[in-house]
Amino acid sequence: MMDDFDGKVVLVTGAGSGIGREAALEFAARGGFVFGADLNEQGLAETRRLILGAGGRAEVGRVDVSSEDDVSAFVARIDAEAGRLDAAFNNAGITGGAHRIEDYPTDDFDRVLRINLRSVLLCMKHELPLLKRSGGGVICNTASVAALTGPGGMCAYAASKHGIHGLTRVAAMENAAHGIRVNALAPGWTETPMVITASAQNPSFAAQTTNAIPAKRGGKPSEIAQAAVWLCSSASSYVFGQMLIVDGGMTIGGFEF
Ligand code: NAD
Repeated sequence: MMDDFDGKVVLVTGAGSGIGREAALEFAARGGFVFGADLNEQGLAETRRLILGAGGRAEVGRVDVSSEDDVSAFVARIDAEAGRLDAAFNNAGITGGAHRIEDYPTDDFDRVLRINLRSVLLCMKHELPLLKRSGGGVICNTASVAALTGPGGMCAYAASKHGIHGLTRVAAMENAAHGIRVNALAPGWTETPMVITASAQNPSFAAQTTNAIPAKRGGKPSEIAQAAVWLCSSASSYVFGQMLIVDGGMTIGGFEF
């Protein structure tokens, strides 16, 4: 077993489900002390149970990532309980409803932007000072292939994920000289509870999407989590301000010959 996160403290948001849970398990399996944040307390308890059962270390807390009070209190708790922060995987997010722009409820647009984008600003704003005090570290923000494409019906989601790409680049520029690397991860179609629920509601869309992926299948949450952990590990020590696309080839473009 790799132990490259031994002695390191890792914050993971959205740790109660899907990609966040898989990443939390992997960080812990590699020796990291994981602090998992989510709104879903049941999901968090299960993630913690899985980590402790495998002999790892984890604490969890109910955090609404769109609330600055919640985010700052959680980082303060990590400081109090672990005394440092080495890596942060800012990953919590929602898809929002699917409507054409002319029909998109403005309040829903604001809500998706608050939960997906403003949250990443809040997380980085409060994580960066503790990362600096810990002697440097890494941040990985979860974007999406929707940071590069224009999925019809998903204007709020796409805008939020394009925004994460921009925030990531600015954070990387501002912090590269301070020993802090910031990157983004862009998953494609990943079979997490979020996608499984959406697929059940619209099976023909799901079939069309899977067929449009060169790999002809969705990704497993663990395949995405591996990339997040790599971006947070010293194996990626010269990668700054990039968005790593992990999508089974969905955004290659072109056509099969
Ligand atoms: P998921 O629904 O399994 O997990 C998301 C987690 O975020 C949930 O546990 C949820 O409770 C939590 N969350 C939602 N709002 C929150 C809030 N305000 N505060 C704290 N926690 C909150 O979905 P997932 O697929 O694992 O999603 C993780 C990230 O990956 C998201 O940012 C999503 O946009 C992104 N993503 C997913 C896919 C995919 O196909 N599944 C593709 C591209 C990007």
